[in-house]
Amino acid sequence: MSIKSRLIVSYIAMLIVPIILSIIATIFIGSFYIHSLQMAYNVKLERKESIEKFINREGTLFQEVQNTAKKSPDNLKNTSYLKSLDEKLQVINTGIIVRQNSKILYASKSVDKEVTNGLPSFGSNDGERKSHPLIGDKILNQLDFHFSDGSEGSFFTVTDIALIKNTAIKFIITVVMAIIAILVFTNAFLTFLVSRSIIKPLESLKSSALQIKNGNLDMRVRNNFNDEIGEVCLAFEEMRIKLKESLSLQQQYENNRKELISNISHDLKTPITAIKGYVEGITDGVADSPEKIDKYIKTIATKANDLDRLIDELFLFSKLDLNKLPFNFEVFDIKSYLEDCVEELQFDFDDRNVRINLETCITSSFMVSADREKLKRVIINIVSNSVKYMDKDYGKIKIELIDAGEFAQIKIQDNGQGIPEENLKFIFERFYRVDPSRNTSTGGSGLGLAITKLIIEEHGGKIWAESVIGEGTAVFFTLRKI
Ligand code: ADP
Repeated sequence: MSIKSRLIVSYIAMLIVPIILSIIATIFIGSFYIHSLQMAYNVKLERKESIEKFINREGTLFQEVQNTAKKSPDNLKNTSYLKSLDEKLQVINTGIIVRQNSKILYASKSVDKEVTNGLPSFGSNDGERKSHPLIGDKILNQLDFHFSDGSEGSFFTVTDIALIKNTAIKFIITVVMAIIAILVFTNAFLTFLVSRSIIKPLESLKSSALQIKNGNLDMRVRNNFNDEIGEVCLAFEEMRIKLKESLSLQQQYENNRKELISNISHDLKTPITAIKGYVEGITDGVADSPEKIDKYIKTIATKANDLDRLIDELFLFSKLDLNKLPFNFEVFDIKSYLEDCVEELQFDFDDRNVRINLETCITSSFMVSADREKLKRVIINIVSNSVKYMDKDYGKIKIELIDAGEFAQIKIQDNGQGIPEENLKFIFERFYRVDPSRNTSTGGSGLGLAITKLIIEEHGGKIWAESVIGEGTAVFFTLRKI
């Protein structure tokens, strides 16, 4: 459940739960005080007798007395009749007083002197019930009538409501306190529940953030929450993965940079050391004949050329790698372009006993968008590798143009020594040479195929190789068709 819905539910619960609990508490407290009142009056409500009826007992009896006063008023002088009335009213804390003229004929034991002394005088409402204002905690009702001898008679009921009043006050105080307690408890409980459901995931998120801050990017950000915090956890987890990837990429770049510097230093150092050696050989007089000196100078020139070529390739590679070499894309027919290339290459490698052929089923023109110069570089690099690593007396290089859907696929196949399976996937990496001694007689820099790969990728194509040891190697690359 989302935090928003959780908050709404808790607010509704904060309203409804206290109302329900307050109603239950009021009923419970009410029945408790009713029970305590029953105990105080020492009565039990009869099964079907309501509280109202119970309280109205006084009214019913008063009615009876009213009838008696009308029909046979002298009965109200009869002590045993009055006692029976008195007993019936005692249970509701009510006493009776009967007065003839100003003389008190009968007064219940519960009625104190203060009341009997301050009774109201005979009134004009003959035969009717008259209620007087409260005297302290007492309710006074009066019935005036005439005895048979014509004397003035008054019948009073005196109800003591102190107990009911106190019980009602206690009931109200208890209910108010119970409602306050219910409000405090439900609010505290619901606030605790809601805040726990928010704080707990936040703490888990905080500990994950601390782990990330301290560089521990391997620990997953726990996410068992399907709310807004769950979404934050998900974003954190994605951030952790991205950060980890970028750090490992950075590390890889750093390693590559170190490796590159070490490779460059090594490749530059080797010919320079050789040149120094031959120069010392000449100056120290080791080369003591004109033939030897000539041989030494030729070797120095070869090494200087190697160095020059390596620096050129390094320069080209670094420019391509940094995307600083501009590409001049043109739309042209790749078939006739390859035909020209093959002619040129055949001429260049004529003295190496190598035959270069172009094969294709494509008869019409085949347009691609490419940089002519850079593409020439790609083809020269691949073909010169085929020539460099040729171990057969008669070298055969076949260039094939294939229609591969959206792409033009060019395959350059030789019948050379081949490349072992385990080395094949590395040949497009910079400075990689299959020969582990890295001291080949071919004078390769290990940058040729790396440069080729960068050029093809800049064209939006792909490059890969297949090889069979002893049978030859095929290098494939693709160019997008127009
Ligand atoms: P290099 O300047 O050493 O030729 P490349 O990047 O052009 O560097 O090639 C990387 C390595 O792949 C070479 O050193 C060589 O061992 C291997 N290689 C590339 N082309 C061929 C091929 N046609 N036949 C055999 N080995 C090859």
